[in-house]
Amino acid sequence: MLNSDEPILRIYSKINYKSLAPLVIFDRDDTLIKDKPALANVESVEWLPGRLEALEQLAGKGIRVAIATNQSAISRGAVKLESYFQVSNYIAQCVKEARGDLWAIATCPHDKIVNQCNCRKPKPGLLDNLTSAIMGQEVPVAFVGNSDSDMEAARRAEWKVDGLQIDPSDREFWKKIADWVGEVTIDYH
Ligand SMILES: [Mg+2]
Ligand SMILES: [Zn+2]
Repeated sequence: MLNSDEPILRIYSKINYKSLAPLVIFDRDDTLIKDKPALANVESVEWLPGRLEALEQLAGKGIRVAIATNQSAISRGAVKLESYFQVSNYIAQCVKEARGDLWAIATCPHDKIVNQCNCRKPKPGLLDNLTSAIMGQEVPVAFVGNSDSDMEAARRAEWKVDGLQIDPSDREFWKKIADWVGEVTIDYH
């Protein structure tokens, strides 16, 4: 199954974003939803407080949203790829129902010991995969994540990516992102 060292990129949105629309990439586990080992069914998806509201705000501003996530449970066989995609589809559906829009999910399914991929964070491959999928020109990009390895991936990314570190219990989740959006949208509009 995992004979490739490439990340898995899935596009969920049908919206035509403006070519200069900023991109906000989120880590998944303990950034948007509660981190649970080998999460393989939709009943186990628990959104952290304020996240869906933040995604609605971003959609209202025409900002493109993606997820970049390490899921080594796939390569270990603890989560079947099919179940993983069901969870991803469900996450995209939740965002849509909250009047947000999820453009894409980039996933590293690899194991850090067994596989020699370039996408497992703190490597920047997932972020590069997402930015190269849209970049004809330089747009502002932020990566929102809870861990130091997320921030390291942002620093190592090919394009300029602003790392925004947010604690899972952070109820001020939206504020950090809103501040960033306020800074970058000066040029955008
Ligand atoms: Mg995380
Ligand atoms: Zn990988």
